[in-house]
Amino acid sequence: MAAKFKKITPPKDGIPITIAGNKLKVPNNPIIPVIEGDGIGRDIMKATRRVIDAAVEKSYSGKKKIAWCDIYAGEAAMPVYGEVLPAETIKAIKEYLVALKGPLTTPIGGGFRSLNVTLRQVMDLYACVRPVRYFPGVPAPVTHPEKMNVIIFRENTEDVYAGIEWRKGTKEAKQLIKYIKDEFGIKIRTDSGIGIKPISVTGTQRLVRKAITYAITHNRPSVTIVHKGNIMKYTEGAFRDWGYELAKKEFGDKTITEDELWSKHNGKAPKGKVIIKDRIADSMLQQILTRTDEYDVIATPNLNGDYLSDACAAQVGGLGMAPGANMGDFIGLFEATHGTAPKYADKDMVNPGSLILSAVMMLEYLGWKEAAIMVEKAIEKTIINKTVTYDLERQMQGATKVSTSEYGSWIIKNMI
Ligand code: NAP
Repeated sequence: MAAKFKKITPPKDGIPITIAGNKLKVPNNPIIPVIEGDGIGRDIMKATRRVIDAAVEKSYSGKKKIAWCDIYAGEAAMPVYGEVLPAETIKAIKEYLVALKGPLTTPIGGGFRSLNVTLRQVMDLYACVRPVRYFPGVPAPVTHPEKMNVIIFRENTEDVYAGIEWRKGTKEAKQLIKYIKDEFGIKIRTDSGIGIKPISVTGTQRLVRKAITYAITHNRPSVTIVHKGNIMKYTEGAFRDWGYELAKKEFGDKTITEDELWSKHNGKAPKGKVIIKDRIADSMLQQILTRTDEYDVIATPNLNGDYLSDACAAQVGGLGMAPGANMGDFIGLFEATHGTAPKYADKDMVNPGSLILSAVMMLEYLGWKEAAIMVEKAIEKTIINKTVTYDLERQMQGATKVSTSEYGSWIIKNMI
């Protein structure tokens, strides 16, 4: 099934991934679209492709190979299409289902909307999935970074990130302020900007379903629903209630609540049951520091998830190495979690770890576990050998500073 694109040339030696029986059907040479990204994206994407190609080649003796397909967004799209997010780019991701993406620039306080947010919304990539774990040897600010091993499922389409907001003084802001006063008798200062925070049963339950399914299929002990429901009762509080409701209704035989754990099982989880618990967001930010290993899979609305995933990554020293994916029912858009770090653009200097580990998640999603494990182990070895990029080198004793491309080469050399 050849797609019709004007400016994208799908590789001739590749075959599209398809959906069969509610699952991905992955050929040995899947077409995978790539958005290189702005700024440091250019350097880290080059290194990432080399590393992934080498791991796939070594793991499957040449029987499998990714057919990368360049697609365009951000600065690179301008000379090709005259716009930053061409419709063809979205069409290609929808067509080929699994894609890899570098960081894209977003202007602050004006200009065009975040391309990252737009991509997630137009393709309904409702779960932002961020695993955070410790790599031995990485300098970390806490005493026991090895206790961190969580996977955060952050709702990606709703909450204050839905993009429903109006600047102070606009017709819309004034109208809303007047409406709320006239209809509900609630006064809002007239010099206010207005934002809306929608959280739905649909958005919540599909996210929590993904998190619980993950916990069950990967034998993880618990899913923690993180919310600020004590204050925002009908959005965040409802997120918690709808989460528990879904766990009971759809996974009743495979889950128990934390209350049941204590009231019926004396605090010891029965074999094969995932514990569903909840924590208030502010408390969770300290719990993840003080009782790190009590947390595992986490399901949370958009804003909490944004804060929590960076806080978790910082705890293991790995902000520059934290991977991420934006997932829909089938589409997976795998991306570095950091930005374009413009001051380092094209200097062959930064850590490609975040993008490489995102590509590792992508390999797992394809079912290419052997290659995924090979890359992870090679990264571990490279870090233990202290051949690292500037960001880690400046925090390590006796480390050798290497460039982005050299770091990629070391990872490849360390693959066994
Ligand atoms: P940033 O690009 O993430 O960079 C902030 C700092 O983080 C860098 O100066 C650097 O710290 C460190 N850093 C980031 N990536 C690194 C890497 N790969 N290796 C080593 N260090 C790394 O954040 P920003 O400067 O706030 O944002 C720049 C642009 O990126 C903005 O337009 C923003 O909207 C966009 N952005 C895009 C995404 C995305 O595409 N998903 C995500 C976040 C931000 P040091 O200077 O201390 O070395």
